[in-house]
Amino acid sequence: MIILVLNCGSSSLKYQVLDMKSDNEFTLKAKGLVERIGEKMGALNHQVPGQDKLVIEQPIADHTVGIRAVLEILTGKEHGVLGSLAEIEAVGHRVAHGGEFFSGSALINDKVESDIEKLCVLAPLHNPANLLGVRAVKELMPGIPQVAVFDTSFHQTMPDYAYTYAIPYEYYEKFGIRRYGFHGTSHKFVSRRAAEFLGIDLGNSRIITCHLGNGSSITAVKDGRCIDTSMGFTPQEGVPMGTRSGTIDATIVPFIAEKEGLTPKQIETILNKKSGLLGVSGVSSDCRDIEQAAASGNVRASLAQNILCYQIKKIIGAYAAALGGVDVIVFTGGIGENSALVRCDTCQGLEYLGVEFDDTVNQGIHGKDAVISKPSSRVKVVTIATNEELVIARDTMNIVKSQK
Ligand code: ADP
Repeated sequence: MIILVLNCGSSSLKYQVLDMKSDNEFTLKAKGLVERIGEKMGALNHQVPGQDKLVIEQPIADHTVGIRAVLEILTGKEHGVLGSLAEIEAVGHRVAHGGEFFSGSALINDKVESDIEKLCVLAPLHNPANLLGVRAVKELMPGIPQVAVFDTSFHQTMPDYAYTYAIPYEYYEKFGIRRYGFHGTSHKFVSRRAAEFLGIDLGNSRIITCHLGNGSSITAVKDGRCIDTSMGFTPQEGVPMGTRSGTIDATIVPFIAEKEGLTPKQIETILNKKSGLLGVSGVSSDCRDIEQAAASGNVRASLAQNILCYQIKKIIGAYAAALGGVDVIVFTGGIGENSALVRCDTCQGLEYLGVEFDDTVNQGIHGKDAVISKPSSRVKVVTIATNEELVIARDTMNIVKSQK
């Protein structure tokens, strides 16, 4: 079954075309990115595995124009990978927020579309863009089944005491203020893959998944189900990230607002875009730049790195307590899959939990599935390459097949 996977942002959209034979047997036919949608000049970056990347500069007025350009290149003579559009049997969308409506992926119909719309208030940057993608596909490929795969749905199994903030309960009732968590597709994928890779029973396991990228979150997975996660009402909470602060004392917000004469929106921008690795180091939001600057003696870059690894370690400790012990720690995402330094610093001092880290193996691991703890380690530490698009394609295939 050929599936088009779409991840629509406000001014960009990523796509992949996957030929799914089964959950684990698939071929990536093409992938790409449309960027600067709505600006004077946009660009379509298209890549067919084994061929050179193609960049076409053209104005892309909106998401419909962007998706039309993608469909044209996919079926074009020169760089196409499909005989015709009819070969695409379904479209899977990454959707940021499923709120309490969705604890799994869903076939998109009018009700689902209106629920995604209602949740725009909780994800004002992302859900509207996701909806633009859904509507553009409706227009360009009328009648094709579309499936929504939510970043939040894996976390809907959290118990109420894990997702409720200790603020007046009426704010949960009135506004839905609670922990939702994000990166759910990744946490679900890597926890399952880690169990499979290690040959352990997912249904009887305690796994801590650390998704560390530009945005980072950590999840406690008990017997395959999420019981807690570090991102909260928004992706702002948890460990420090590229430009996000992660958890801070909430009263810092009114304090800075008063001192600097800033509005809540301005403070939100500071906490989302000017904090984290960038804010502390003053160097960059990119972990590679931080590592380089720290290695050449930049004290604040070194501090940013230490804060990051310390906070990750603290959450691992908290989740080991929440899970009643831990069997597996997973590192994934751009940093988790590639930064031997972050993995090593984070795991230092976790011997008390039963972690025997193997830094010699760790140093050589980039972007693949590998065990980086010693064979004698009671807790297995692994790197798993995440693949959110594959989860979206799988869910889309399975939901569409179940309708037939
Ligand atoms: P996103 O959250 O946007 O999907 P990614 O998962 O791609 O981001 O992660 C991006 C992060 O991964 C950046 O901070 C980048 O520096 C980091 N990264 C990528 N490769 C390496 C590497 N070799 N060493 C350290 N960090 C890396």
